Amino acid sequence: MASVSDYASKSFWLGATPYEANPALEEDIRADVAIIGAGFTGLSTAYYLRRADPSLRVVVLESDVVGYGASGRNAGFAMTLLGLTLTVTRWRFGMEKARQAHEFMVRAVKHVGELAEQGLDFDYERNGLLTVATNRDQVNRLQSEIHLAHELGIEGVRWLEAGELREEVSSPLYLGARAEEECALVNPAKLARGMKNLAEGAGADIYEQTPVEAVHLRPRVRLETPRGSVAAEKVVFATNAFSGRFPQLRSKAFPIFTYIVLTEPLTQQQLSTIGWGGRQGIEDARNLIHYYRLTADNRLLMGGRDAIYYYGGRLGVDQHRPTFEQLERDIVETFPGLAGVGIAHRWGGPVSVPLDFFPAMGYLGGDRRVIYSLGCVGHGVTLSNMVGQIIRDLVREEKTELTDLFFVNRRVIPLPPEPVRFVLAQGIRKGMALQDNREARRQAKVEPPVGAARV
Ligand SMILES: Cc1cc2nc3c(=O)[nH]c(=O)nc-3n(C[C@H](O)[C@H](O)[C@H](O)COP(=O)(O)OP(=O)(O)OC[C@H]3O[C@@H](n4cnc5c(N)ncnc54)[C@H](O)[C@@H]3O)c2cc1C
Repeated sequence: MASVSDYASKSFWLGATPYEANPALEEDIRADVAIIGAGFTGLSTAYYLRRADPSLRVVVLESDVVGYGASGRNAGFAMTLLGLTLTVTRWRFGMEKARQAHEFMVRAVKHVGELAEQGLDFDYERNGLLTVATNRDQVNRLQSEIHLAHELGIEGVRWLEAGELREEVSSPLYLGARAEEECALVNPAKLARGMKNLAEGAGADIYEQTPVEAVHLRPRVRLETPRGSVAAEKVVFATNAFSGRFPQLRSKAFPIFTYIVLTEPLTQQQLSTIGWGGRQGIEDARNLIHYYRLTADNRLLMGGRDAIYYYGGRLGVDQHRPTFEQLERDIVETFPGLAGVGIAHRWGGPVSVPLDFFPAMGYLGGDRRVIYSLGCVGHGVTLSNMVGQIIRDLVREEKTELTDLFFVNRRVIPLPPEPVRFVLAQGIRKGMALQDNREARRQAKVEPPVGAARV
């Protein structure tokens, strides 16, 4: 049997509770549907397929363990955002589709809540989201996002002035925030493992420690793994940021790395300097955002600040010291009362980013035997738990309101080959960082942050 990898070191969540992986595939088998990848996408697909048709033989092949990818490493924000921002979605697809995207995502956030109501234990907290502005340009951007939301008829989104915001969460950097009710926080590894139980309970077979090394589509679908193979009627690529491992998907999205640091549990005294009784998820309004939250045991998780593409789409760069150091400084700059707080965990992982920053899914090249889903950007917790219902309908070749959604079977702008791909990714990242830095400098000239500690 293949040895279980170092999954426990891949995130605080994955290592926090003991886990027993399923055995690897060690024979040649047949299946109706073979799913590659046991993140939220693969597991929700297996679950909904088996529920719809218990006569289907559904197998999931996971190279490492359930939740090994982004699903077990993320920050756990279940939010309504699809793509980069509402404004960008409106600009790319128009008003009606921006509204459709938001309505779908509200349904998807509620779906995560329903999983908790069903009895899955994943530290679910529906605390809402604060997108904070730390300079005037961000205030303007967030206020126009709220204006657009209201134009689209979206409710539950409002502006908080600095005073009102600081009563919720106190930081010398905050100038105001966009507050949204519809956002939950989860423990992602617990959710992934809960989804595994649901999928197995519904009758799916999950093989862990089973990397798919090749997918042959002609004459029939055949998947090769180190010690076995699957002959299947249909295949689902649920590999998100790892999709570049398969030549069929390589040009659809960049794998981009984002990193996280996690403190020791905060003391009541440390927490009292911040407030945060509402325990909201918080992002800032930079292009290269920070995202932060409290865990169930009151650790502060701080992530983001940079987003890195490695030449050739290299994976496995799960540690990045310069970003960790910067994030540790950012914690103290945001909350000076946390100066000296201990950092207990540091990790990172890849998200999947298409050229237009918008998710993509559907039949690969129009072949109804081959379905893929990728491009959740950093916002896939909600989407990828819901996407199983869309893929279910695609596999069953049923035309439904889900398969009619505008982003299903949409045309994806192909990425250029290397080295142009790398140059393009660097250009986008630098352009975003440049704007963030320019806006921060402009603010510092007007009003230097009061009492912001430097370390
Ligand atoms: C650090 C970080 C923070 C994030 N924070 C948030 C957040 O707060 N909110 C949010 O909405 N989103 C967030 N995201 C994004 C979110 O986690 C993803 O969009 C989502 O988990 C994608 O799920 P998935 O199942 O599609 O992909 P993954 O969870 O990446 O699953 C893909 C699976 O495929 C497996 N695999 C790869 N290659 C093979 C192969 N050859 N054979 C078999 N299996 C294979 C991998 O091991 C992996 O388990 C974050 C991501 C990261 C990395």
